[in-house]
Amino acid sequence: MSWDVNVLVVGGGAAGMAAALALAEAGASVVMADPGEKPGGILNRCVHRGFGQGLFGEDLTGQEYAARFRRLLRESSVTVRPRTTVLSILPDRTAVLSGPGRLEKISFERCILAAGSYERTPQSLLLGGTRPAGVYTAGCVQGLVHEYGQDIGQRIVFLGSGDVGQILAAQLAAAGKQVLAMVEQKDRPGGLPRNRREYLEAANIPLILQSTVTRLHGDRHLTGVTICHLPTGKESFLSCDTLITATGLIPDRRLADPLMKDGKLPEWLIPVGNCRRIYDIVDVLAADSRKLALIPQ
Ligand SMILES: Cc1cc2nc3c(=O)[nH]c(=O)nc-3n(C[C@H](O)[C@H](O)[C@H](O)COP(=O)(O)OP(=O)(O)OC[C@H]3O[C@@H](n4cnc5c(N)ncnc54)[C@H](O)[C@@H]3O)c2cc1C
Repeated sequence: MSWDVNVLVVGGGAAGMAAALALAEAGASVVMADPGEKPGGILNRCVHRGFGQGLFGEDLTGQEYAARFRRLLRESSVTVRPRTTVLSILPDRTAVLSGPGRLEKISFERCILAAGSYERTPQSLLLGGTRPAGVYTAGCVQGLVHEYGQDIGQRIVFLGSGDVGQILAAQLAAAGKQVLAMVEQKDRPGGLPRNRREYLEAANIPLILQSTVTRLHGDRHLTGVTICHLPTGKESFLSCDTLITATGLIPDRRLADPLMKDGKLPEWLIPVGNCRRIYDIVDVLAADSRKLALIPQ
């Protein structure tokens, strides 16, 4: 059988870029599709340092890290398809791509699924009360503020205290916002110890532990949240105009689900990066993605 391309890479974040480069270096013809203007995925939203000490021996921002990879891609034989979404992957090893102005079907020998992760939405958190404006996920705020230069509210409460929330809370505090509290259901904050020191503690973000948000208030716009202390059930009202949920990432394997048989994916379809499992350190993710992409079928 002759294929249009040896490998289709779905997603152009760190995982997709690392896998595509490894495969091209090994002599494969590779097409990498990503909906963004330029490859990078989550990295394009990360203006903080902490990336690339393992791979490049430097402390880079996420955006700088992505730019390094884009340079390597330009020097490689990988065909990058920006502004292109893979709509479906079919059992006969074809995929439907939606790119600028056209739908296209291409066939491939193998497919690397590097579609990243999605965030738990505020809607999935079963918050009581009204549905006012001013409630965002952390990823949405990162995109609005760091990629598109938009503003959000002024008096902010975070729900969830992992790395993503801590970094964003410190950035917003540095930009002059009032971060009133970070509400965490566990008895200690989440995230890497390094981030706790550099962001949460350095920015003096108030933590409310063993607690969660149970209710949103406000008609058109958020005016406050109810916070419940879980061990006692005691509730209190905190006035704010913005709630940011940072309650975890979920591997995005939705494109692969219809191809599962007896709980297994076909051997020609290989998930890598956050799509496989959620990684804290991008260098580890990039190294694993290279390795997985090169494992022979
Ligand atoms: C806020 C934050 C801070 C972080 N800080 C650090 C840090 O300081 N140091 C560190 O080492 N690591 C850090 N990480 C971890 C690291 O950056 C990520 O784990 C990594 O960048 C994820 O790469 P990925 O390629 O798996 O996913 P993503 O970057 O999410 O890329 C997936 C890409 O696939 C695309 N896609 C999805 N569906 C389709 C489709 N159907 N068709 C085509 N394309 C599709 C998406 O648009 C996206 O561009 C951080 C992560 C976050 C979220």
